[in-house]
Amino acid sequence: MSGHYDLAILGGGAAGLMLAARLDPSLSAVLIEGNREPGAKIAVSGGGRCNLTNAEIRTERYRGDASFIRPVLKRYDRRWLLEWFRQRGVKTRLEKGSQYFCVDRSPAVIRALKEAASGVDSFYGTRITKVEKTSEGFRLISEGGKSLQARRLAVATGGLSFPKLGASAIGLETAESFGHRIVRPAPALVGLTLQPAQSFFKSLSGVATEAEIRVGDRRWRDRLLFAHRGISGPAVLNASLWWERGEISVDFLPGVELLRLRGEKKHLSSLLPLPRRAAKAFLEHLEIADGPCHRLIVSQWKRLEGLHDYRFAPAGTFGYSKAEVTRGGVSTEEVDPQTMESRRVPGLYFVGEVLDVTGELGGYNFQWAFSSAAVCADAVNASVVG
Ligand SMILES: Cc1cc2nc3c(=O)[nH]c(=O)nc-3n(C[C@H](O)[C@H](O)[C@H](O)COP(=O)(O)OP(=O)(O)OC[C@H]3O[C@@H](n4cnc5c(N)ncnc54)[C@H](O)[C@@H]3O)c2cc1C
Repeated sequence: MSGHYDLAILGGGAAGLMLAARLDPSLSAVLIEGNREPGAKIAVSGGGRCNLTNAEIRTERYRGDASFIRPVLKRYDRRWLLEWFRQRGVKTRLEKGSQYFCVDRSPAVIRALKEAASGVDSFYGTRITKVEKTSEGFRLISEGGKSLQARRLAVATGGLSFPKLGASAIGLETAESFGHRIVRPAPALVGLTLQPAQSFFKSLSGVATEAEIRVGDRRWRDRLLFAHRGISGPAVLNASLWWERGEISVDFLPGVELLRLRGEKKHLSSLLPLPRRAAKAFLEHLEIADGPCHRLIVSQWKRLEGLHDYRFAPAGTFGYSKAEVTRGGVSTEEVDPQTMESRRVPGLYFVGEVLDVTGELGGYNFQWAFSSAAVCADAVNASVVG
């Protein structure tokens, strides 16, 4: 690794690749990636089918400052993104109501990005351990002690999640060393662990059920999966984005009117719309002997009603090794959403997940990575032309 460049892009994930792909060819730019191949998270995303974006991209589905997020997603929206990939031969399909998945699986997405970024020099398998400010810009120093210089630097290093796919704290450390505030990072879109009072959930490991989870004013109705370590599944993953220490509420019987069951002669466990194992475990937990519904007494129905609003405080999360994303990151207060440039250090840019912008499940995070990168590319290109 060596050389002098107009722009160095640190991180070859979704954001770094899209930035490289949209640069003016007259720019001398370099993309540096710690893994031997770029786009490791794209490869595993959406079960290998990359959920690129969502039909309903709205700022409410993101944790972060809406006034920062809105102009970026408006300028480079879902239509732009789908068209960009379509023109490069990547077909997408709308599934699960609003999610766009890649028909030809994730490698097609990586291939399209790599091809479009081929005008940019690249150093793959090069891990950066230090970034310094110089009189002419920035010096990036690799694990092996080699360095390169660039007039500008775009930090596209993503979050701290999935260290085995190359995640590191270099982006946050770099931002902090240049005086940027870091919003405390935490694992998000991740399973939640349990306190001893919910240890009976463990006996349900492997069971999935529909549930509605509430965290503050937000609610998600989706699948909840009982896992060995706690609870997971889409409803839980979304809840984890917003959960701070404290209680969450789970409705294990969403939409079910228990009153209607009161006169039934059938056994309660056979009428509850829960997997049988879950129904049995909950009844045991609530100390209700299973039997014909019409024999249950008022206090038992009352206890059962509690399943509509089962409150408990999770112990924590499954951690960064399982978290799809990292919430928190470089504060957006000191980044310009028109350019993604630092307001503190001219020539320093931040794109993608390294910023304090995190979306829910459903393609929101790739949309953010690609849109923020496109905004940054415009700004860098304009400065070259100008
Ligand atoms: C299992 C999984 C599934 C997901 N599925 C989806 C999905 O379907 N849809 C969706 O929208 N989002 C999904 N996400 C989230 C999405 O992958 C990320 O939000 C997105 O990749 C962020 O893009 P980024 O470019 O900012 O960061 P990344 O894609 O994480 O890229 C950062 C790059 O920087 C490199 N890097 C870090 N440190 C260094 C260093 N010191 N030196 C050199 N290189 C370095 C990393 O190796 C990495 O390649 C998923 C995430 C995971 C983990």
